[in-house]
Amino acid sequence: MTQSFDAIVVGAGQAGPSLAGRLTAAGMKVAIIERKLFGGTCVNTGCMPTKTRVASAYAAHLARRGADYGVSITSPIAVDMKRVRARADTVSTNARTNVETWLHGMDGLTVIEGHARFEGPDTIRVGDELLKAPRIFLNVGGRANVPDMPGVDTVSYLTNTSILQLDTLPRHLVVVGGSYIGLEFAQMYRRFGAQVTVVEKGPRLIAREDEDVSEATRDILIAEGITVRTNATCIGFKPHADGVAVDVDCTSGEPVVVGSHVLLAVGRRPNTDDLGLDKAGVAVDARGMIVVDDFLATNVPGIWALGDCNGRGAFTHTAYNDYEIVAANLLDGTSRRVSDRLLGYALYIDPPLGRVGMTETEARKTGRKLLVSKRPMTRVGRAIEKDETKGFMKIVADADTRQILGAAILGTGGDEAIHGILDVMNAGAAYPTLQWAVPIHPTISELIPTILGDLKPVV
Ligand SMILES: Cc1cc2nc3c(=O)[nH]c(=O)nc-3n(C[C@H](O)[C@H](O)[C@H](O)COP(=O)(O)OP(=O)(O)OC[C@H]3O[C@@H](n4cnc5c(N)ncnc54)[C@H](O)[C@@H]3O)c2cc1C
Repeated sequence: MTQSFDAIVVGAGQAGPSLAGRLTAAGMKVAIIERKLFGGTCVNTGCMPTKTRVASAYAAHLARRGADYGVSITSPIAVDMKRVRARADTVSTNARTNVETWLHGMDGLTVIEGHARFEGPDTIRVGDELLKAPRIFLNVGGRANVPDMPGVDTVSYLTNTSILQLDTLPRHLVVVGGSYIGLEFAQMYRRFGAQVTVVEKGPRLIAREDEDVSEATRDILIAEGITVRTNATCIGFKPHADGVAVDVDCTSGEPVVVGSHVLLAVGRRPNTDDLGLDKAGVAVDARGMIVVDDFLATNVPGIWALGDCNGRGAFTHTAYNDYEIVAANLLDGTSRRVSDRLLGYALYIDPPLGRVGMTETEARKTGRKLLVSKRPMTRVGRAIEKDETKGFMKIVADADTRQILGAAILGTGGDEAIHGILDVMNAGAAYPTLQWAVPIHPTISELIPTILGDLKPVV
């Protein structure tokens, strides 16, 4: 049987449901297709279950540090991993149920559960059903990448999805991949009480960041007892009586690390390989990302791609912003572009890293005359009062235009405080605008005008 719609949305992640809401509100007859869990990665296996666990890990960490604050905890700190998991499951389940209930109650929307595959540029198959529409929106997201590393198929390993099923503490968790997802799991499991080793093939952690950010992040992790093995050039796996032997073959240190569990956190790949894109003629790049223009349209008229599957963002807020761009352009007569988006993001270790715009390294490469200012968190009153003084704040500005080009706040409250800078950059205001602001005391944000006052030319 073939059903016709005005629009079809494939995937109920971060962009699809809201887009369905706008399209149906505009009077369109819409179908949304979801093959697995409503809410997609963020709700079920990404942001929500991880940040809920990060909060549990922080509670354990703070409890261990009770004496630093004059709080005496008499019995030893114990982490109930079943309770940790149950708490995270509840948060995810509630969010998923909310999305599902919202979609099922949406006037004009048909919710279809199953795997969608193109049969042609305007036709999608789900099981025995054929659906046709002149507009098709792909919001299919991505999944953990498992590269073909030597021996990987001879051992059992965890991904960001399967690790969420654990409700016991690994004796020794080896995290392969020293980037955002890997580091969050590494610190959280250390705080839960596991021995943790991070294995990274590159010379430093979070390699996209400035070297000083990478170094400070490494120091934070090492101070908590995490072993960090960078330059692990020949990562390979072998079964071992105690779990899994991971060859790290680093330039120094033990060549093999034996873990009871291994987490592979080595990137994500888009869910585009099983979508029948060839039948619709939709172009993908070498990584399998759907190629889109500045308005998120694919090469096939009437097909758009939003969120992680288009390679233009890898965050919940970028996926949601994709929805905003597409909806505004289609329904509000605007011409919003992805290239207008100013990227901000956070790494949720503790203390978190809040980031916006260019790194200092990127700014230097532009050849502009730069101003830079940096302040350690040991000189931030709020951090001192909280006894959380690890990290630093750094701002990079253009010396001629006086526009802020980028900033990093690696420190307590950094994920929130960065928004003061992000907002001023979005407003297109020059940095002196912020210097006359009167921020609240005591906050992390109150140091931003001070840091701006200390901007110095880069030599
Ligand atoms: C461990 C982890 C932590 C993260 N933490 C953060 C964070 O703190 N902040 C942040 O901003 N981002 C975070 N992210 C990234 C964030 O989760 C993603 O960027 C976001 O979920 C992308 O949304 P999306 O809508 O593009 O895709 P998804 O949320 O992945 O949704 C895609 C949906 O499409 C469905 N689908 C796929 N193929 C088909 C098909 N053929 N037929 C039907 N349905 C299909 C999938 O089942 C899925 O439900 C994290 C990711 C991970 C893995």
